Amino acid sequence: MNAEFIFVGTEILLGNILNTNAQFLSEQCAAIGISCYYQTVVGDNRERLKDAFLTAWNRSDCVFLSGGLGPTEDDLTKETVAEALELPLETDKKALASIREFFARRGYEMPKINEKQALVPKGSIVLYNENGTAPGVIIEKDSKIAVLLPGPGNEFCPMYLNSVKPYLENKSGCVIVSKTVKMCGIGESSIDEKIRDLTENGGNPTVAPYAKTGEVHVRVTAKAENEKEANKLIKPVVREMKNRFGDYIYTTDEETTLEKAVVELLLANHLTVSTVESCTGGLVAGRLINVPGVSEVLKLSYVTYSNKAKRKLLGIKKGILQKYTAVSPQVCEEMLKGASLINKADVVVSVTGLAGPDGGTEETPVGTVYIGCSVKGKITVKKYIFSGNRAKIRESAVAHALILLRRCVLEYFSEVTFGQEG
Ligand code: ATP
Ligand code: MG
Repeated sequence: MNAEFIFVGTEILLGNILNTNAQFLSEQCAAIGISCYYQTVVGDNRERLKDAFLTAWNRSDCVFLSGGLGPTEDDLTKETVAEALELPLETDKKALASIREFFARRGYEMPKINEKQALVPKGSIVLYNENGTAPGVIIEKDSKIAVLLPGPGNEFCPMYLNSVKPYLENKSGCVIVSKTVKMCGIGESSIDEKIRDLTENGGNPTVAPYAKTGEVHVRVTAKAENEKEANKLIKPVVREMKNRFGDYIYTTDEETTLEKAVVELLLANHLTVSTVESCTGGLVAGRLINVPGVSEVLKLSYVTYSNKAKRKLLGIKKGILQKYTAVSPQVCEEMLKGASLINKADVVVSVTGLAGPDGGTEETPVGTVYIGCSVKGKITVKKYIFSGNRAKIRESAVAHALILLRRCVLEYFSEVTFGQEG
């Protein structure tokens, strides 16, 4: 089946909002094997929307529309699609009741204009909205499908996942299940080389790597009659990847992020952590604090951006800063030892670097970052040279600080020494 998407909204055309539904839907369709060849953004205009819809309808099996299901004058997706397909609109009683209830739960009476949201094209499948007022609809006509979903992401995404996805899977008679193997500290090309035999069999499951900052995610996707059969296909491939990549894999759980894996590792080993940051300005601590429950492990962090702060708060000697400069392995190590942090936390991470755009020298070009980690006094300091603009360099530094932290803790407890990659 091939599909195309139409995103309705003048504010998307004007750049006032980011079309996040596009990314979500593209990923979702790819994940269940639906090919998407066209995506259109059109303003809240009846003629242009009708034109865009008919073009899509004529060349694709399935057309998704997002937005314009609200109660106001400029919300005209349902009316326009119904007109284009020559279907009359009729009130869906259950939808009307559910809109009334939505308001009642909040202690309001339903405004009259919301009645129009309960109108649906005759014969369509109504998708009731648990997170808003506009119901979605699926229209089947001439062996084609139109799917109309509300624009707000907190309504669009759950409605897709809870109603549209099962509908599409049911239609195709098969399910597509994927599992993501998330790795860090190893580059995409080395992974690629080591999984070539798994990707080249071209079949079922497919194995595809995606690079992210400091990480590589490998998605294993299987197509089968049901979820159990699909998982049966996925399992041996994931097991094989675990054999090949060992501790480079930080999780195979969809929900687990790198920072969550790091916090879990610290918790499991009863370790506390502190960060001392310069160019990352607290973002390493910030990522750790993304994880609920981090207060068990993260006690204190310093942002010592200026040399003065490094002297005053951490007690680094002026002479050391002058002799080696702030972006040096020596100062990175002094940051670990500063303010007696090593005695206060089991693990200390320090970051000092040059994020640019100015200040680079031949010896220390923009992008040079030193990251240090101490686990119970065992110190590691590593030099990195990241590329990209200031934001990208800082983002890479943050990711690699988490990766080095993880690696140092694993090495401390297992005596395993990792390669020098990534
Ligand atoms: P409402 O009932 O809120 O009017 P709607 O279905 O009519 O919903 P729109 O009026 O088109 O949807 O958009 C409402 C809001 O939903 C937008 O202001 C925006 O915040 C969000 N939104 C719409 N389209 C998108 C999109 N493609 N990606 C992300 N967010 C979107
Ligand atoms: Mg609207």
